Amino acid sequence: MSEVRNVIVIGSGPAGLTAAIYAARANMAPLVIEGEPSSTSDQPGGQLMLTTDVENFPGFPDGIMGPELMGNFRAQAERFGAEFLTEKVSRIDFSERPFRVWVRDDEYRAHTIIVSTGAQSLMLGLDSESRLMGHGLSTCATCDGFFFRGQEIAVVGGGDSAIEEATFLTRFADKVTIIHRRDELRASKIMQDRAFANDKIEFLWNHTVTGIHGADKVEGVQVTSTVDGSVSDLAVTGLFVAIGHRPNTDIFRGVLDMEDNGYLITTPDSTSTNIPGVFACGDVKDQIYRQAITAAGSGCMAAIDAERWLEAQHDSAAAVATADA
Ligand code: NAP
Repeated sequence: MSEVRNVIVIGSGPAGLTAAIYAARANMAPLVIEGEPSSTSDQPGGQLMLTTDVENFPGFPDGIMGPELMGNFRAQAERFGAEFLTEKVSRIDFSERPFRVWVRDDEYRAHTIIVSTGAQSLMLGLDSESRLMGHGLSTCATCDGFFFRGQEIAVVGGGDSAIEEATFLTRFADKVTIIHRRDELRASKIMQDRAFANDKIEFLWNHTVTGIHGADKVEGVQVTSTVDGSVSDLAVTGLFVAIGHRPNTDIFRGVLDMEDNGYLITTPDSTSTNIPGVFACGDVKDQIYRQAITAAGSGCMAAIDAERWLEAQHDSAAAVATADA
């Protein structure tokens, strides 16, 4: 039998690592199961590992790179004794306490669980996507932008992610075409203004990407007009998909209450899930704010909620023991 820990944190983005810092400083000796390095959905450090400059995280007036920020979070959690397992949770059993979590065939047990598995990039749903991912097709400008030096590429989407990716990619590419299905952007005004002022960015309004050309690397994309259905080709050697995200909640399906779109449901003003002792924080339960700072804030809440819940269990166990004596 594995030892029973006070808390296991599943996921290691801003939410999970903040929960780990707070739990570690509360002497809860957290185990953080941080994700799989090879994964693009639940990589250690979360989505900020796929981003560039973070200009809105308080405390960094000159900005900081996403991976560096997450490295700092992790180092801070380690400093207070958080333990890390660089693996992915394969299975859970929250039907009885202590809760059980499996990594491959190894079982880990804990009195409380903090779920901070985050969210991942949505894809267009084209057959060619799996074949061409990493061969001109990407969801991460930070990771892959360098490979497109001097090329003409495209970004799909009209939100902050698409604009941020496109703007970053102009550091490398000669031209970046933003393909958006409507004629106005969803992105914030400041991001829009930045993109409109960038000479290297062009817009293809009212179009969706309906095909990606190329057998073993991207050689162009087929676009279809959302106005008249006409089909045409765009000659690009790279395509970045930035159309939103989906929460990483598959392993909790049928166990933790979630919205139809998979986002976990927590009690208002709390990180409690439907299972007492299991808490959720960060993007996995937030489809409104989805910011690193809000994720970190809710990670702090989850650690405090877990600590107080554990304390209350001890108090009630002690009260029962006294009554029995
Ligand atoms: P988002 O705001 O949901 O935008 C997704 C975009 O993709 C929308 O423009 C949407 O079009 C388009 N889209 C969705 N499905 C599509 C499909 N199948 N084909 C073509 N286009 C499709 O997602 P996001 O940009 O990833 O941003 C998510 C959240 O993170 C937002 O709250 C955002 O503000 C935040 N964020 C902030 C920053 C920053 O402040 N630095 C950076 C990145 C993200 P429609 O507009 O027509 O729906």
